[in-house]
Formats: sequence, C-alpha cells, structure tokens
Amino acid sequence: MTDDKCLFCRIIKGEIPSDKVYEDEHIFVFKDINPKAPVHFLIVPKQHIDSSNEFKQLKKDQLARLLTVIPELAEKHGLADSGYRTIINCGSDAGQEVQHLHVHLLGGKKFTFFA
Ligand code: AMP
Ligand code: ZN
Repeated sequence: MTDDKCLFCRIIKGEIPSDKVYEDEHIFVFKDINPKAPVHFLIVPKQHIDSSNEFKQLKKDQLARLLTVIPELAEKHGLADSGYRTIINCGSDAGQEVQHLHVHLLGGKKFTFFA
C-alpha cells in the first residue's frame, strides 16, 4: 500500500483528524476510534510498515521508541500500578484491520481473555 492511501499515514500527516495523545520524531499516538477499554491508544511508527513481519525495515531508534513510550504513557494515564495490556495484531488470523503497524495499549479494566 502506498502511504497516500494508508489511513494511519494520513492520520499522522493530519489529513484525517484523530484524537492525538502524543507525538515525537519517531511515533504518533492517538485514541482508538472504537475503544475496547477505558484507555485504548494506538502507538504508530511514523515510517510506514505493513505489520510486524516488517519490523526489520524500521530504524533501531524508531523500533525502540515503539516500546519505550509504553511505560511513559502508562504512567501519565494512570495505568502503571493497575496494569495494562499491549497487543500487536499481524495478518488475517489476528484480525489486523489496518495495514500500518500499530501497538494497541489498553487499560482501565480487567482483561480476562489472554489474546
Ligand atoms: P487492528 O485490528 O489491530 O488492525 O486495529 C485497528 C484499530 O484501528 C481498530 O481498533 C480500530 O478501531 C482502529 N481505527 C480504525 N480507524 C480509526 C481511526 N480513523 N481513528 C482511530 N482509530 C481507528
Ligand atoms: Zn501507513
């Protein structure tokens, strides 16, 4: 998919509105439009890759930032002590709907299902 057709690339560029939570040179974080928990953020690398199958295409700093932002967001949004779940869906068996890699950060409730 080309970046101008990708929903999350267009959100990052500001062409489609989003409820932005955080942004830096590597990543863009916004609220999921259909939240599955009281806190449901999507952490997205600014460089387009389709899925975790392409992790190797990301620069190391960008890849690292996808993870190091998680505890920062958890602390800022009151999840660090109560806990939270992160999910990366890849491909059709996982139900990946948007073909731009994203990390779901979910919190504010107890999760009973493992996946
Ligand atoms: P996944 O199934 O892992 O690909 O997750 C895609 C997520 O993107 C879903 O949880 C959707 O609710 C969310 N989503 C789709 N369109 C938008 C949008 N325009 N703004 C925010 N979240 C979106
Ligand atoms: Zn994209």
